[in-house]
Amino acid sequence: MINLILFGKPGSGKGTQAEFIKKKYDLIHISTGDVFRYNISKQTDLGLLAKSYMEKGDLVPDNVTIQMLEAEVNKTPNAKGFIFDGFPRTTLQAEMLDEFLNSKNLSISMIIALEVDENILIDRLINRGIASGRADDQDRSKIQNRFEEYNKKTSTLINYYKSQNKFFEVEGNGEIDEISQRLFNVIDLIIK
Ligand code: ADP
Repeated sequence: MINLILFGKPGSGKGTQAEFIKKKYDLIHISTGDVFRYNISKQTDLGLLAKSYMEKGDLVPDNVTIQMLEAEVNKTPNAKGFIFDGFPRTTLQAEMLDEFLNSKNLSISMIIALEVDENILIDRLINRGIASGRADDQDRSKIQNRFEEYNKKTSTLINYYKSQNKFFEVEGNGEIDEISQRLFNVIDLIIK
């Protein structure tokens, strides 16, 4: 089983690239942002709770996010593997994910970070906001807050996974196809 984490700042292309990886390696793609947005659109209890945090560009509390993630994984017991996109975003989430996977005799195979310049990210997010109507993409101060959340709470995960020798980096500037190929090259390193 291959269990990948796609890592990177908001707008780094995790969702776009996850679609290509999913098709090539027959994996289940779990985007925590997409699951939250789906719940918001259906006005579920989870959606109502997540909305207030997401609109400001804050992280949703760990306990809520972890429970939701575990429920998503449990929906496909026969999966060949998972792509986690947008999760984990805090050290507690990473520790809980390891514990959860261990309890199923599974583990994270690798984490791949998409490296993109911050000025390019801001342009991408503003354009995405225009196209999608996403509230958290439409306002520079919310975007800035998401980068701050990343720097404060998420970037520490790099060391968490480096210490397990699972951390890889890929240049995320350039054409979409080029970036996919770079990702495939890294994933193929662990496929026997
Ligand atoms: P992006 O990474 O491009 O900002 P996402 O769709 O992955 O977009 O996430 C959007 C928002 O959803 C985040 O700003 C946060 O509020 C919430 N969210 C997503 N994943 C998590 C998580 N693992 N923990 C806490 N909040 C999350």
